[in-house]
Amino acid sequence: YSSVEVTQHFLDRIKNLDGQYNSFITVTDEQALTQAKAADELRAAGNANEWTGVPMAHKDIFCTEGVRTSCGSKMLDKFIAPYDATVADNFNKVGAVSLGKTNMDEFAMGSSSESSFYGAVKNPWNEEHVPGGSSGGSAAAVAARLAPGITATDTGGSIRQPASFCGVTGIKPTYGRVSRFGMVSYASSLDQGGPIARNAEDAAMMLNVMAGFDKKDSTSIDRAVPDYRADLNKSVKGMTIGLPKEYFSSDLDPAMAQTIQDAIKEYEKMGATLKEISLPNTHLCVPAYYVIAPSECSANLSRMDGVRFGHRCEDPKNIEDLYKRSRSEGFGDEVQRRIMLGSYALSAGFYDAYYKKAQQVRRLIKNDFVAAFNDVDVIMSPVAPSPAFKFGEKSKDPVSMYLEDIFTLATNLAGLPGMSVPAGMINDLPVGLQLIGNYFDESRLLNCAHQFQ
Ligand code: GLN
Repeated sequence: YSSVEVTQHFLDRIKNLDGQYNSFITVTDEQALTQAKAADELRAAGNANEWTGVPMAHKDIFCTEGVRTSCGSKMLDKFIAPYDATVADNFNKVGAVSLGKTNMDEFAMGSSSESSFYGAVKNPWNEEHVPGGSSGGSAAAVAARLAPGITATDTGGSIRQPASFCGVTGIKPTYGRVSRFGMVSYASSLDQGGPIARNAEDAAMMLNVMAGFDKKDSTSIDRAVPDYRADLNKSVKGMTIGLPKEYFSSDLDPAMAQTIQDAIKEYEKMGATLKEISLPNTHLCVPAYYVIAPSECSANLSRMDGVRFGHRCEDPKNIEDLYKRSRSEGFGDEVQRRIMLGSYALSAGFYDAYYKKAQQVRRLIKNDFVAAFNDVDVIMSPVAPSPAFKFGEKSKDPVSMYLEDIFTLATNLAGLPGMSVPAGMINDLPVGLQLIGNYFDESRLLNCAHQFQ
């Protein structure tokens, strides 16, 4: 097939099916077909690589030159990015075709994709259920085969949890592995881009394009990028898998425990050894994260003031009125809640009690993992406490939504790579197995996932 044919195939699927799922915010048909045509010409001239003309899409958090980059918010509804994020640029450089931009929780805050200004995303497995979040659009679109692979971001689980809910594969790399340049910031010390794809092999192929040093991102790490497909077929024989007892407590839903344990048994059959480990500060992940992430978000989102960036209210009376009304109208409820929480935690009188304390706790959480990786090669657990929940089930109670992230936050707080691989079904809904690796051990996670698939 030519790239134009393949691209048209996916554009047709989006047109015919996405009315149901709402997984795309913007579809760039014309641009995609122009890119596909150019790719076909390159191929005819014998100048193609494996990516030439392959369709994909981006989460709407990555800036894409000349195309709206909304971050799921009214605030950026009219924002046309004047430049490409490094991740988008990398895909352009290898000749990939971008189909458009996928839906997400507003500013990536959420675990259900219900908080988007553009409406909620539906889970293709059952449309009464959420697709997870915040990268719900990316995961749902891959699950519905509207694109073979889509970029996403993960601040506290936003790649892994939607991948789990939608039965697809996603990897959040080590902090600093993928450039954050041009990725709208939520919580800068936690944010990391990564792929969502059908399987580990496709995810590895995407990560090959996404990963690498970028001098435009001061937290990017200058370290050689391996070929992430090189180790896919290695045996897992002799590998030691750590099972954190805090992640398999008696509170864990029995069906979830069973599904995850069955998946882990497959690794034992393949010759891996299981070892119970302890991550004693696990109970502090949710409280520490929900101080650090809102704090950083309150600082990052201060640039959306209706002057330099973002929605501007009608007819402002003075500068204060302009700020107040522009921000009240532009930001949704959850974003406003986080800005208030973060501003409070960072205020002079409370900084030591909240933000500083949370950073100290974060170090303890990291140390738990450093100690664990002295004894094991990879850690396995559920991705989320349950399969995809129903619309409205948690959106009215923010704390119940925050608890949804209990198994995914630690890897972001520690900066470690984490992955979700489809493990089985509960009540006709998919659930993922979480793989957590040591720093820069993405190849091992992809290897483990590929051996299971
Ligand atoms: N659910 C978490 C939050 O709302 C994580 C979101 C994310 O990883 N972007 O902050």
